[in-house]
Amino acid sequence: MNNQREKMAATERNAQSAETPEYAVEVVDVVRTYRVGSNDVLALRGINLQVKPGHWVGVRGRSGSGKTTLLNCIGGLDHPNSGTVRCFGRDITRMSDGELTRWRRKQVGFVFQSFALLPTLSAWENVELPIRIAGNRDRRARTRYCLELVGLTKWANHRPYEMSGGQQQRVAIARALANHPSLILADEPTGELDSTTAREVLALFRRIVETEGITMLMTSHDPIVLDYVDDVVELQDGQRVSNNEH
Ligand code: ADP
Ligand code: MG
Repeated sequence: MNNQREKMAATERNAQSAETPEYAVEVVDVVRTYRVGSNDVLALRGINLQVKPGHWVGVRGRSGSGKTTLLNCIGGLDHPNSGTVRCFGRDITRMSDGELTRWRRKQVGFVFQSFALLPTLSAWENVELPIRIAGNRDRRARTRYCLELVGLTKWANHRPYEMSGGQQQRVAIARALANHPSLILADEPTGELDSTTAREVLALFRRIVETEGITMLMTSHDPIVLDYVDDVVELQDGQRVSNNEH
């Protein structure tokens, strides 16, 4: 009896520690090279990085420093040549393509510089689509919630071309949130916005990280991100330069 109880307690402890690992994202010695003609381009030269759950880390660096490659390796859109990427305790570098696709659909929301909305769909339909694809329930309620969160309830029936850049990026953020992700990966999300709109989008991300308990990694070369993120990682030629806690 006692044994049984202890076993159950141990199982419960393990389940808890699996659900709440120390780091949301852990990148260990990640190397990514691309073969271009007869040359190897070293995009990432052994990156180490840790992100605590619920934290927002900004990845800065010049164009070509490896920011997008790093984000894609974390989101499972690209594969490192060597090294490990653990997300919420799971080693995603060891997943099969099918596992990775399912994991990504459930856990990760992506936001891109160019918004990447489907032009023929309304804001509502753009947000609802990933919920349809995932086959999740409460599609309407969730779509409504996400559009409300980004302040676009009144724009639900509008198409992207009827909206400003800032509004389009808000739709893209609502879409990224649609399937309750644990992690948001945003690649230069303010790159096409003027600085006032960029600040509005950054403030929205800040609110989302805090109220939804989401972990976030965002690339940018704009210094204004320093006012919003918890932590900064700087890349130079595929290597880390610094990590300033502030
Ligand atoms: P950033 O996002 O900081 O601008 P990237 O991660 O896009 O940097 O690129 C890092 C380096 O890797 C650059 O030298 C780039 O040219 C190279 N690179 C990125 N993707 C590819 C690819 N698919 N094929 C070849 N080289 C690539
Ligand atoms: Mg890039």
